[in-house]
Amino acid sequence: MESQSVLGNDSGPMEDRCKSIVLLVDDQPENIDIIRSALNDHFQILVATHGVKALQVVRRVVPDIILLDIMMPVMDGYQTIKKLKEDATTASIPVIFLTAKTEFEDEAKGLALGAIDYIRKPSSPQIILARVKNIEYLLLARRALEQKNCALDTARCNAEQALAKLAANEQQLHAAMLAAERANMAKSEFLAVMSHEIRTPLNGILGMAELLMDLELPEEYRLYLETIRRSGENLLIIINDILDFSKIEAGRLELETIPFGLWSLLDELNVLFGQVAANKEIDLIVEYGGLLPSDLVGDPVRVRQILTNLLSNALKFTEVGRVLLTVEPVKLSHEQAVIAFTVRDTGIGISPENFSRLFDAFSQVDSSTTRKFGGTGLGLSITNRLVRMMGGEISVESALGKGSTFRVVIPFQMARSGHPAPERSGANELRDVVIPENRSLLLVEDDPINLAVIKGMLRPFQLRIDVAANGRIALDKLARHSYDLVLMDCLMPEMDGYAASRALRQQEQTSGVRTPVIALTANAMQGDREKCLAAGMDDYLSKPFKRGELLGVLSRWLSRPQAMTEAAAASGQGWQNDPNEREPIDRDKIKELQEDLGEEFYKVLETFQSGLKDRMIRIRTALLVGDIQRLRLEVHSLKSLSAQFGLVRLRPIVLEVEAVARSGGADVVLVESLLAEIEKADQAMKACIEGRRVRDAGG
Ligand code: ADP
Repeated sequence: MESQSVLGNDSGPMEDRCKSIVLLVDDQPENIDIIRSALNDHFQILVATHGVKALQVVRRVVPDIILLDIMMPVMDGYQTIKKLKEDATTASIPVIFLTAKTEFEDEAKGLALGAIDYIRKPSSPQIILARVKNIEYLLLARRALEQKNCALDTARCNAEQALAKLAANEQQLHAAMLAAERANMAKSEFLAVMSHEIRTPLNGILGMAELLMDLELPEEYRLYLETIRRSGENLLIIINDILDFSKIEAGRLELETIPFGLWSLLDELNVLFGQVAANKEIDLIVEYGGLLPSDLVGDPVRVRQILTNLLSNALKFTEVGRVLLTVEPVKLSHEQAVIAFTVRDTGIGISPENFSRLFDAFSQVDSSTTRKFGGTGLGLSITNRLVRMMGGEISVESALGKGSTFRVVIPFQMARSGHPAPERSGANELRDVVIPENRSLLLVEDDPINLAVIKGMLRPFQLRIDVAANGRIALDKLARHSYDLVLMDCLMPEMDGYAASRALRQQEQTSGVRTPVIALTANAMQGDREKCLAAGMDDYLSKPFKRGELLGVLSRWLSRPQAMTEAAAASGQGWQNDPNEREPIDRDKIKELQEDLGEEFYKVLETFQSGLKDRMIRIRTALLVGDIQRLRLEVHSLKSLSAQFGLVRLRPIVLEVEAVARSGGADVVLVESLLAEIEKADQAMKACIEGRRVRDAGG
């Protein structure tokens, strides 16, 4: 029988296509028949009568299994299997020897050549079928395994591709992040430079306007000047807002954690906004009670900014009625004070649908308000972010046409007793600022306009001012002369303020004298203050500064060598020298007040005087029961009143009692002398009022 590719007798083509193909290689037709009939039901059978034929068949159709006789003409089974194993396409086809050679050596040789099984003839058809089926089973299992491996390989390949893609994405992301960071840095740098560039000329504009305001000018000029000043200040507010907002966005705004006096901060705001309210003929009421702690730890500048934003909005959007700021503790413990600040107004109100946009940047709830009231729409957004940075919350209630209530709740640390907050020299205490006479100042500044502004601001004071146009000249002068204080600009040609300060501190190591250096800088970015202090400077004034701020710093640093007490410095008198020589009331001051108040003067004086006895009782009771907080509250309100009524002997004692109370104590002798002084003030005022009655009766 010749080689043939014969399909099984009984099976249809569809069925056969799914069957495994067995190539039967045998030269004996009767063998072929037996085996075919054994396998036909399960396999598709191909037949070849010797090895060469078999190799030809295999080249056309790759069988799944080969049943191979050994003794055949042309090419025997051993040679055939060798050829099959040499060819990569056929090497893996399982070969079963089916042979009449029954010696062990033959079987060993067949297996060694790569056969998977060895069946001796004669064998039963069932055994042949079973063994071929076993091999087929193994074959199919191997194929399934290979398929799974293949699928696994594909999956691994996909995963590797995905990972590579991810890594590439990550790299891109990283690169984008770096680019964004660089852009952010560039933005911050740009802002710092821009702020410097805008602030420097603004310092000139505002400073010159402030100086001109001191001159005798026709009313019309004064009006123009006032407009210049107000526009400059508005521009400064806008620059500061944009700068703050960018700093918060860039995550570069850091909060301070320093002791501060909440009461004085509120008093300052009261004075500051009282004037704005008075101009609009609405009432501003600042309410806080004795339970409110004053010495807190936090960021006073940012607290002031939050309240300033809320108060200025309340006043801006209120035409009639009042604005009320209530400050009260929500929770108090030894370590922490949670304070609620509520600003209520009776203004235009906000409709509820606009609440959600209220804290968005650059958003004004009604574009018509922009035209009417101005503003950048940044105030509340900054306020909101600042409050959140402090761990607090802000909320709002409002009704159109009825008014709005903004409530801010912020947690603060309590200041440790013995670490009272330094009092700020606010605008209302300006008249108390003392600049000691005949002190020498070195003003290091390259900008002629700024130079003129500072000199102008200091003209009324008896100071010796020397000037240096850069750090190098300043160092030279400092080596040859001694100065009480240096005002140092930061950015200058040749040698900047930082380098000059560092060199000065080196220079001073041999002399042992340390001259205070105050930085004057137009930079307002985070870290500028630290940079100045790190360079050896002692304090910091950010341009544009007001005269009050400059004088405040000078007063603080020039008063130091004299070791004046805070009370004496603030009283401007050094009262301990000869307090008893002085009248209880400063006549000039009272005359001034009389001129200011006109008809109202005696009424105001009487109201104050008539309350003095009660006040004395309250002070005495507070002292007796050891209620230091109450004592402090009483003397605190006396502080500004005593300044207002020119009670020159009372005021320094008030300051001393307050300072002691602030550190948590009370000096009985001091409080007694305070009471004695109030008594004297009371008598003096009574006499004053009595004198007027007599005059009235006489006239
Ligand atoms: P702006 O600089 O415009 O005042 P804000 O962020 O401070 O920016 O305020 C955003 C807007 O919210 C204001 O333009 C105003 O429409 C509204 N708004 C804020 N406070 C009040 C208030 N007390 N009464 C009425 N509307 C207010």
